[in-house]
Amino acid sequence: MILNIAKWKDNAVSPVIFMVDDIANVSVKNSKREKLEIGEDWGQYGRDNNSMWDFLSKNLLEKFPHIQTTLFLVTDKRVPMALGETYNYNEPMDRNKKFINFLQYLSSQPNVELAYHGTTHGKASIKHKDFLQEWETFKTLDIATSEINRGKELFKKVLSAYPTGGKYCGYEAGKFGDDSISKTGFKWWCYHWDGVIWDRGIKNSKYNYDLEINQGVVDIPSTVDASTLSLKIVKKFFTRKYLKSLYLYLKKGKTIERHIASLYNNGEVISIQEHTSPYRTDGRIQYPNIVSDIDNLNYIFSFLNKKEIWYTTCNALADYYLTRLNVTIQIKKNNTFQLSTKRNVAKELLTLVTPFMGEERSLCDEEGKFLSIFKHKRDELYITYPFKIGKIYKLI
Ligand SMILES: [Zn+2]
Repeated sequence: MILNIAKWKDNAVSPVIFMVDDIANVSVKNSKREKLEIGEDWGQYGRDNNSMWDFLSKNLLEKFPHIQTTLFLVTDKRVPMALGETYNYNEPMDRNKKFINFLQYLSSQPNVELAYHGTTHGKASIKHKDFLQEWETFKTLDIATSEINRGKELFKKVLSAYPTGGKYCGYEAGKFGDDSISKTGFKWWCYHWDGVIWDRGIKNSKYNYDLEINQGVVDIPSTVDASTLSLKIVKKFFTRKYLKSLYLYLKKGKTIERHIASLYNNGEVISIQEHTSPYRTDGRIQYPNIVSDIDNLNYIFSFLNKKEIWYTTCNALADYYLTRLNVTIQIKKNNTFQLSTKRNVAKELLTLVTPFMGEERSLCDEEGKFLSIFKHKRDELYITYPFKIGKIYKLI
């Protein structure tokens, strides 16, 4: 009997995560009109017309209801890009009922996850180029951990639970980043912009497209920049982003389709990166952003729709990975088997696979009582089931 743990849940080829950075109790006014225009909201307006969530829901999430979204939340008062610049509105996450209600609504949605993205996002200077990302500002490990713990408490005050993971601001770890993440109890973290392997051809062992463990924390890679436009989206002709995408293709033969197809063919993580809003305090457009990229996002998710994908949040991905790493299968006599674990992580669903030999298979208990049936995917049969460690199961 051949029986293995599937790399991904439901024997999918690749997991897909939709990551949106910088949700905050913030808005930036771009037009002179009093009413909220699309793109001006970073989260402050909750579910109002033209808010960030309203735009994203109507233009993407309702069309692709299987998408799971991980939103990275700035917990305290966000700093501007440079000193002297201001937001239209800027408050901590716990400051008003509207934003609190909105966050509580989001965290109650089965297809949404809120994750940690610092307290202030960093420190502004007179010049934009001197902006320090939050983890770069920490001068000791103690300062880093106490600031993270302060942010986590704000998060818990509003959402009744600590965040399970998060992402560095600007992917900058500073001197104490990785130690501070491991010391503050996160299960998973987004440490790097791993898309540089594809985008700029950078090869460095810290970048890769798969999951790994960093000081006890699951390192989830960031692999797809959703502002890399498909050349099939003609509406975007002659924008700067379109020209960059065209350059990548003409000079290096790179397209977003090929990048995603390569991740998929290698069974790697497809994590699609976005920001909530195009507008920053310095008047420049922030890329990627859900508004400028909305056609491209629709294109990417239609492209993925034809594939065998596990749409997941970062937390569910980390849980499955930890279970897969720690559980082993012992094959016993008469088509029976048992699972054991090094750590107590196997509370999640696990997917087992066996080659399809022309016959259907069922999962039964030791006495032969039917529990569930295997399903087909590619040339294999698979089953996703809440297996119990130590219990004897039988394949029939
Ligand atoms: Zn950010």
